[in-house]
Amino acid sequence: MVRNVQRPKQGDAHLRLKVSKKLFAAIKGIRGEIKFFEPLSPLTSFRIGGPADAVVFPKDVNDLCQLVRQARGAHVPIFVFGGTNVLIRDRGIRGIVVNLKQFTHIRDESDDMVFAEAGVRMPLLLQHSINRSLSGLEWAAGIPGTVGGGVIMNAGTRLGEMKDVLHAIEMVDARGSLMIRQAADLLFGYRRAQVPKGVIVGAWFQLTRSTRKKIEALTKSYLQYRKNTQPLTLPNAGSIFKNPPRGSAGRLIEEAGLKGAKVGDAQISPKHANFIVNTGHARAADVIRLIQKIRRTVIQKTGKTLQLELKIVGER
Ligand SMILES: Cc1cc2nc3c(=O)[nH]c(=O)nc-3n(C[C@H](O)[C@H](O)[C@H](O)COP(=O)(O)OP(=O)(O)OC[C@H]3O[C@@H](n4cnc5c(N)ncnc54)[C@H](O)[C@@H]3O)c2cc1C
Repeated sequence: MVRNVQRPKQGDAHLRLKVSKKLFAAIKGIRGEIKFFEPLSPLTSFRIGGPADAVVFPKDVNDLCQLVRQARGAHVPIFVFGGTNVLIRDRGIRGIVVNLKQFTHIRDESDDMVFAEAGVRMPLLLQHSINRSLSGLEWAAGIPGTVGGGVIMNAGTRLGEMKDVLHAIEMVDARGSLMIRQAADLLFGYRRAQVPKGVIVGAWFQLTRSTRKKIEALTKSYLQYRKNTQPLTLPNAGSIFKNPPRGSAGRLIEEAGLKGAKVGDAQISPKHANFIVNTGHARAADVIRLIQKIRRTVIQKTGKTLQLELKIVGER
């Protein structure tokens, strides 16, 4: 039986029972692991986030297709995430959270084409390409997200981004059918891509042959640059804001005098002002208040509006 760890108020017990019945219909017969009312914080790089009604770890693509179809039929929302560019609110996520930890296979399709399942972490894909002397993914050094999240975010740095090497994606669409989309059909922008609604399950990467020595040297220098400039020893979610055209969000925040500012245990990193770090037991509410403070102060002091790169999700 699905139990609710947050004591339901008298008035909404009936509603919660209804949600539970719908939830059961959505997960019936699913073969992968399922956890109920599981806190999401351990699945995020921020170490912040309330519980999901259910976290499902589909066993394979067929299992995922079945889940998407059943959840659609039962009107239960699905949210998929890798956890490194999201802030999950303290009340958590209503519905099903899909985790692709079983989708970690990488295979060589040809001399210079690699397929990776969507749950593969970018550093692992980069390591695979280094082992095969394939160049093109060096920009991904130190980006901790998954292949699926990387496509949606068009992850990258000034040195390159996902769209430069992506050939095609495989995904389960909103109706639960498997389909392939060419990268040329996805409209990429700065930290965004237009991908049909659904769950990405894998991607093909077109790389170029190089020497292992060259690729390793580039990768090492990028990693060193990150170590020198980013607060990698405390939980965080990467850049909070997008860089404005020809500018730097971090510099604007620093110029507004906000480096080191805190709300609860959420702090604007003294090392890099576009990072918020969790110095202990920060709650999502603390991070959100800090974000509001940054936006307000930067507008007042510079007249510039900062756009969020971070995705804030969950029940308000
Ligand atoms: C220390 C650190 C450094 C970082 N540096 C960079 C950087 O240099 N450049 C950069 O671009 N990013 C950086 N990031 C942010 C983050 O790693 C990237 O944005 C990454 O691509 C997000 O991947 P994710 O799997 O964690 O996705 P999430 O952050 O969990 O999700 C992002 C979005 O993608 C969606 N999504 C995730 N997986 C799927 C899927 N399989 N199918 C459909 N939708 C999906 C989610 O629903 C959400 O809307 C950094 C983060 C950290 C913690």
